[in-house]
Amino acid sequence: MSTILDGKALAASIRGKIREEAARLPRRPGIAVLLVGEDPASELYVKNKAKDCVECGFLSQLFDFPDTVSEEELLGTVSKLNADPAIDGVLVQLPLPACMSERRIIEAIAPEKDVDAFHPLNVGRMVHGDSLLWPCTPSGIAVMLDSYAIPVDGKICVMVGRSDIVGKPMGLLLLRRHGTVIYCHRHTPDLAAMTRQADILIVAAGRQGLIRADMVKPGAAVVDVAMNRDPVTGKFTGDVCFDEVKDIASFITPVPGGVGPMTRAMLMQNVLTLAKRHMGLLPGA
Ligand code: NAD
Repeated sequence: MSTILDGKALAASIRGKIREEAARLPRRPGIAVLLVGEDPASELYVKNKAKDCVECGFLSQLFDFPDTVSEEELLGTVSKLNADPAIDGVLVQLPLPACMSERRIIEAIAPEKDVDAFHPLNVGRMVHGDSLLWPCTPSGIAVMLDSYAIPVDGKICVMVGRSDIVGKPMGLLLLRRHGTVIYCHRHTPDLAAMTRQADILIVAAGRQGLIRADMVKPGAAVVDVAMNRDPVTGKFTGDVCFDEVKDIASFITPVPGGVGPMTRAMLMQNVLTLAKRHMGLLPGA
């Protein structure tokens, strides 16, 4: 039986430390969240973020737009927030409606307020290895690996999924920590042959039941990023068949309660980091 990577408990303890640190700052860290449309999942994420902000003692502002909002209006709001000294981080809840250019909106966020680290300048810094911030999901996973003393240096790390927000930056982070990284995706011909090599297996495909027991190396650390809604039970499940894999892996994340809470905690950490930099308490202000 593997050790369960308890993201929920770890995230709660991180939020406690963030709150203590924020209370010592000259002003409250502030985040603005832009939400467009009425996607229930996005609404829930935004509600949870607001709750976390209250717990951490942050200022949080929600800009809730109908899906008829124009790109120009969104860009105008981003521009005002870029200039607002009370706001340290600007977050655009993705996905945006299909008719909008996500890239155009993200690129309008001032790089020093880009709390998700999605702006091309910050992505470039990640590639160079000198980024102040990392996207929340990969950094949450890295903190979780550290907390459970799971080494990356010299290990074979297999990343299933290559999205801009999870897979790609996660692979870069592992590479930075001297892991040997293999990216897998829809075009990978023999996924099992790759995953079976992994000392650290991170899965973010959004395909329920994708990773079976015979695809996992005994003793591997398995991190399941996915949040799939089970069509029968309606509950959230990951991509990994947890009940099978838990007896083979040395460490495994549950879904829910693993990566999700860590992602939320890292958003708070990123707001705090940006706030400290804006207050001149970190280099690069
Ligand atoms: P995405 O759809 O942008 O990317 C999915 C990736 O998986 C693609 O690169 C695709 O090539 C790959 N893929 C799909 N099917 C595959 C298969 N059969 N074999 C190998 N690779 C395959 O998704 P995303 O935004 O990266 O999110 C992935 C999952 O993680 C989703 O379930 C999402 O809800 C979840 N997610 C969770 C968190 C969290 O905090 N827990 C954060 C972000 C995303």
